[in-house]
Amino acid sequence: MDHTGATRPTSHLGAPLVELESVNKHFGDLHVLRDIDLTVRQGEVLVVIGPSGSGKSTLCRAINRLETVDDGTIRIDGQPLPAEGRELAKLRADVGMVFQSFNLFAHKTVLDNVTLGPRKVRRLSKADAEAEALELLDRVGVKNQAAKLPAQLSGGQQQRVAIARSLAMHPKVMLFDEPTSALDPEMINEVLDVMVGLAHDGMTMIVVTHEMGFARKAADRVVFMADGMIVEQATPEEFFTNPRSDRAKDFLSKIL
Ligand code: ADP
Ligand code: MG
Repeated sequence: MDHTGATRPTSHLGAPLVELESVNKHFGDLHVLRDIDLTVRQGEVLVVIGPSGSGKSTLCRAINRLETVDDGTIRIDGQPLPAEGRELAKLRADVGMVFQSFNLFAHKTVLDNVTLGPRKVRRLSKADAEAEALELLDRVGVKNQAAKLPAQLSGGQQQRVAIARSLAMHPKVMLFDEPTSALDPEMINEVLDVMVGLAHDGMTMIVVTHEMGFARKAADRVVFMADGMIVEQATPEEFFTNPRSDRAKDFLSKIL
């Protein structure tokens, strides 16, 4: 799988899939999301970058309804986020999430980690869930680790299992919150390669990352956040070579 240097035509973008309108969120006195308007279209890969504390994780958690918001609306595939119950479980299946820490079930095998959700939520039989899980584990390059426990795998392998586990729910959109920042440097690319592959296969993705190589290879759009606001957005090419705001220039000078 070599996607190096591939460019992405924008004609692959479909209908709006994730829509945020005037979304606000406070933690006490702290205004963490300020009037966020954002639309992500089907097949789009959006990279979110910005300084620590700018609200990137809160944004992801709000989209996945792990956090409530104070006002504004968030819609997934046209449907407003449900508050609770069965509808919320369905939403969680539609919106996959991969965290910085791999969050695998420590006492379950890799295979069980991937089959658990599909058996419970999608009501697949054990055999069907396992067949599909093995295909997904193969796709992320860890099929031969299926019988092991997470602790027996490297960080990069665990994160790839976490991606397979999310994919097993057949999400409409995948959220990645700094998926490689807890990894040793030599394992970063094996995870990014899987994500680039997903992007090229047409998955809609919102990716919080400071990995510029990934953004350049896979992103349709870069959103720069600071102080809970979307300060600037552009194509990766435009953003990295010609940032407009002082906040973005300052931020890029520190990480590039
Ligand atoms: P980022 O992911 O960009 O680093 P976060 O979304 O994690 O930013 O956090 C934005 C701000 O909200 C930070 O100041 C953080 O300390 C604060 N924050 C995040 N989660 C909570 C919480 N559960 N309670 C209180 N403050 C929080
Ligand atoms: Mg964060």
